Amino acid sequence: GWANVPMGPPDPIFGISETFKKDSFPKKINLGVGAYRDDTGKPYVLPSVRTAEAEILKQDLDKEYLPMTGDNSFCEEATRMAYGDVYDSISNRLVAAQSVSGTGALLLSSRFFSKFYPSKDIYISNPTWGNHKNVFSNAGLNIKEYRYYNPITKGLDIEGMLSDLSQAPNSSIVLLHACAHNPTGVDPTHAQWNDILRVVRDKGHFVLLDMAYQGFASGDFARDTYATQLFASNNVPMFLCQSFAKNMGLYGERVGCFSSLTASPEEAARFESQLKILVRASYSNPPVHGARIARFILKNNDLRAQWAGEVKGMASRIISMRQALRSILENDLKSKHGWKHITDQIGMFCYTGLTPEQVATLSRDYHIYLTKNGRISIAGINTSNVRYLAEAIHTVTSN
Ligand code: PMP
Repeated sequence: GWANVPMGPPDPIFGISETFKKDSFPKKINLGVGAYRDDTGKPYVLPSVRTAEAEILKQDLDKEYLPMTGDNSFCEEATRMAYGDVYDSISNRLVAAQSVSGTGALLLSSRFFSKFYPSKDIYISNPTWGNHKNVFSNAGLNIKEYRYYNPITKGLDIEGMLSDLSQAPNSSIVLLHACAHNPTGVDPTHAQWNDILRVVRDKGHFVLLDMAYQGFASGDFARDTYATQLFASNNVPMFLCQSFAKNMGLYGERVGCFSSLTASPEEAARFESQLKILVRASYSNPPVHGARIARFILKNNDLRAQWAGEVKGMASRIISMRQALRSILENDLKSKHGWKHITDQIGMFCYTGLTPEQVATLSRDYHIYLTKNGRISIAGINTSNVRYLAEAIHTVTSN
């Protein structure tokens, strides 16, 4: 039996959603989970996704198994989008597999490292998405941190980051967020990416790029490929983990892509053979429906253009909520704190700087829920709740 199984802690993010659901206060706000909401606070299914689903339904397709690496045509479109102009020059040594969203791609990475990579040290940013630690420590890797966020400037600690990556043992694994860093909303500039590349090359590090938010910060897919193109064009050995949860709003469909940039077509063939073995023993093959939707959109020029517009719409609403929140705090409520970082930071999140005590007061007294680290999902803010939120933040930061 399971008499010796201890009670585990609830997940810091999904736990919040459960508490939120039980709260009957009408003005409650959930800023925990990173899922897009429209201006009425409702989940948003992209019209391009609805259209693709309707078209797919008309085709009367079967439900046969996909190959172990999934829908190859989806993978090709997904990786082409992520590697941009570099794609054609690397495609013969790129191995890709459809994954169970971004987390599934990270899982495949973690298993590959633990089975085949000589170093078991993975360097993650401080802070990072909480699940990174779970995934990589489950696979038996040693979690190490590099400095990333400077709480004083509320920006990037580039000197700390470069110094920590230089001091890591040669050939370590380095996890980098390709764009729209979670939870801080702080990304390196192009010049800073170039500095990161230099250290990574000098040290022979292996790069794992986590790309969960392509296009989401600005609505511009190409702009977010800077890091992928930089590492790929410099032949840095790398994995890329893509998610279509946020940018296509396909959260629960679990659509993602894992890819590995190898040194040669011959190495790619060996890598792929082991990837198939890993997938076969894990879940055999990935689910069909979500990848069909994504492939349909990516391969249809009109729908793809429509989708890009819808992503831009989500990005713009998020930016306007950043501006509204900052403006109410600074101009209407005359907060004595600076809130410039709300509009400086990008993507879905803002790392507010609220302390764990202030976060606890917000949930207890105002029914506003967020993670203990002070991260808020801007997508949970809308024109009807932004003032209530600003007033609550103002009150808890005033004493
Ligand atoms: N990486 C990061 C940094 C994320 O924020 C997320 C989504 N919260 C993911 C990966 C993967 O999410 P999913 O498995 O839903 O694609």
